[in-house]
Amino acid sequence: MMDIQSDLRQHDLLIDGKRMPPGTGEYSVDINPATEEPIALVAQGSSADVDAAVRAARSALKVWNSIRAAERGRILQRLAGLMRENMEELAALESLDCGKPIAAVMRQDVPAAIDTVEYYAGWCDKINGQVVPTRPDALTYTLREPVGVVAAIVPWNFPLMIGMWKIAPALACGCTLIVKPAEITPLTALRIGELALEAGVPPGVLNIVTGKGSVVGDALVSHPGIDKVTFTGSPSVGRGILQGAAGNFKRVTLELGGKSANVIFADANLDNAVRAAASGVFFNTGQVCSAGSRILAHRDVYDEVVERLATRAKSIKVGDPSLRETSMGPLISAAQMKTVLSYVDTGRSEGASLVTGGTRVGDRGFFVEPTVFANVEHEMRISQEEIFGPVASVIRFNDEADAIRIANGTSYSLAAGVWSADLSRVHRVARDLKAGTVWINTYGYTDVRLPWGGAGDSGFGREHGDVAIENFTEPKAVWVAIDQ
Ligand code: NAD
Repeated sequence: MMDIQSDLRQHDLLIDGKRMPPGTGEYSVDINPATEEPIALVAQGSSADVDAAVRAARSALKVWNSIRAAERGRILQRLAGLMRENMEELAALESLDCGKPIAAVMRQDVPAAIDTVEYYAGWCDKINGQVVPTRPDALTYTLREPVGVVAAIVPWNFPLMIGMWKIAPALACGCTLIVKPAEITPLTALRIGELALEAGVPPGVLNIVTGKGSVVGDALVSHPGIDKVTFTGSPSVGRGILQGAAGNFKRVTLELGGKSANVIFADANLDNAVRAAASGVFFNTGQVCSAGSRILAHRDVYDEVVERLATRAKSIKVGDPSLRETSMGPLISAAQMKTVLSYVDTGRSEGASLVTGGTRVGDRGFFVEPTVFANVEHEMRISQEEIFGPVASVIRFNDEADAIRIANGTSYSLAAGVWSADLSRVHRVARDLKAGTVWINTYGYTDVRLPWGGAGDSGFGREHGDVAIENFTEPKAVWVAIDQ
């Protein structure tokens, strides 16, 4: 019998500019979540591999910072150009690895990743210190220096885009990195590592170590040679990272989960509101940290919102991600599908009304129908806990104060939406909502120029924009005596 795995390409680690087999010699099978078929063999890194990557990144710090800032910017521009030239390949890899519809990846993930690199390429020669007036017998100024070696730990829901949210600003600031993609979606990170070398990023500046979170992730977080950890993932892992990073007081940025509220008032444009609410919760099969998974509808329009949302849910084309007409692919894994379906059971047993969906589609691939629950009470688990799947909970509210109380009533505060034609109301509500991002009469947009992140169980710190430049630099004060 032919060994199917012998046909698969073996993906090694990328350390110091070279592809290297893992110290353990072990590889995991990466599968396509739409077909459950193996697509690649991926190196299972070990703590010894992390040591090697940290050594490479530490010695590359000097090399990377000996290149003029404007030239580093040109190298990043070349990387963006290579990503554009290889856009179809990157999209195909991301679609295969994550089960994302190819049309969505070409429209959203890849362009956003390229935009991020281009944006931070422009920052390289604009990271200024300041001359600060203190006293006449001194010249006092500040420098912004790279924090050093960064560990970037990336989740599986937007591996390429979220990876670039970390890689691009870190490189712009003169840092070097070890990137650990999620074990089940490593392919685009490895390809970006190759493209970066081709663009002129020196060996050792961007290292990719694949493998388990509990092995590679843990080794990075506790490693004394790492200066900063930037993490996107679940609150439980985030908590462990914060504790693990305490050893040498690493700087930490945590982008964690969400249970975002999308609040629809009775005077909202319901066509727009429900269209955006549907894509806000079903986009990427609901595996989005800012998914608008709680749809709060005013009691006067509640029934209409539920009915229209259910109609939209039923019209979503679920299926083969490689087809252009597919709008929703599978969940990422069997485990994630099990979790989502068990939340459907929880919703039912808590007394919510299942309006549509709630079951697996087919028996191959991890597809679940777009699901709408009505008559959801704020205290129910399906209203409080992040499901990370295509499950909408529609909750009734009576007035503005009630809406805010419900919207703010979870442990998360990442994002929120508000829909109304009343100008004063939308600004009042935007002010009162506990969230890192508030969308008014729209939902779900992000842009690398705007800060992104949350508080509470959604983590702390912000990515994007000039905040990310602060994240990856340390200010230094320089005091020069001036003889009088
Ligand atoms: P996860 O926390 O399980 O894994 C995230 C990453 O951490 C992976 O690379 C994983 O291998 C690694 N990891 C696991 N255990 C580790 C350990 N002990 N030490 C170090 N690293 C470890 O999360 P996930 O399941 O990949 O992603 C889903 C979660 O991510 C959701 O909760 C979602 O809301 C969140 N998320 C947040 C944002 C945001 O911007 N706030 C964006 C996307 C996803």
